Amino acid sequence: MFLTDFMDVLQLIYNNKLQFNIKIGEKFMEIIIGKTAGFCFGVSNAVKKTEEELKNKKNVFCLGELVHNKQVTSELQNKGLTVIDNIEKAKQNVIIRAHGEPKETYKKAEKLELDVLDLTCPKVLRIHKIAQEYANNGFYILLIGQKDHPETIGTISYCGENSAVIEKEEDIEDALNNFYVANIDKLLLIAQTTFSLEKFNNIISLITEKVNIEQIELEIKRTICDATRLRQEETKEIAKNVDVMIIIGGKHSSNTNKLYEISKKYCKASILIETKEELNVQFVKKFQKIGIMAGASTPQKSIESVVEMLN
Ligand code: SF4
Repeated sequence: MFLTDFMDVLQLIYNNKLQFNIKIGEKFMEIIIGKTAGFCFGVSNAVKKTEEELKNKKNVFCLGELVHNKQVTSELQNKGLTVIDNIEKAKQNVIIRAHGEPKETYKKAEKLELDVLDLTCPKVLRIHKIAQEYANNGFYILLIGQKDHPETIGTISYCGENSAVIEKEEDIEDALNNFYVANIDKLLLIAQTTFSLEKFNNIISLITEKVNIEQIELEIKRTICDATRLRQEETKEIAKNVDVMIIIGGKHSSNTNKLYEISKKYCKASILIETKEELNVQFVKKFQKIGIMAGASTPQKSIESVVEMLN
């Protein structure tokens, strides 16, 4: 199908028909938009509930940016949300975002008598529960995730003192040495929900090669969330089949950066943009087949505005 009218393109996006042709200058180009592009369940729920909170209450504070997307953050700030980096700066109502928080944050909120709206994604809460249970049952826990990511910082607080974070292959040796020094014979491996599936599988196989599974009890929980897994798989499939790949999302968003990494591996002409203004149309025009994917914190309107720009 060929399209020249932007309204037709938007209609297709809404109808979930995500493969179409548009005319750019004198040339027809094929565009494929990932079905999983844009807000995941956890982010969509967090944004919706925050908007409701802002309608009903004053003095609403959010501990960190609600989502790693400047446009969404500034819209919420315009509606009255104050972003803080420390719970002690909150005055009355505080929002805990989808990434979740360390245990200590809840204790501080209670002490400060704050009204907490906890928007931690249920999938992150499930990992906290698993970590807590296994820590109570005497397991050493290795959390595979990005060390400075808020979700990892939150989750590790539920893993107890016998735990470590592995971000890359080079961290494995130290982590396993600490496990042996702790003299524990039960080991649990879990992952940050938005970690790269490929890297997770690689780290898991390296660890299973190194430990003696005859002598220890090893449990692996594949806690990368389905939304992340499907998005990464779809990114790979689209990137393999297009000439240029546009990844839309916050440059400081962990899941968007992972999509970009995957995309570059399978399509050399991959670009990461936060807004349509960053799109180099002259560069994109050189190609015939364009793939578009967006991170979990990228709103639908950012995807639409890029398609509008191309059109
Ligand atoms: S990526 Fe998955 S775990 Fe994270 S907020 Fe979205 S649905 Fe929840």
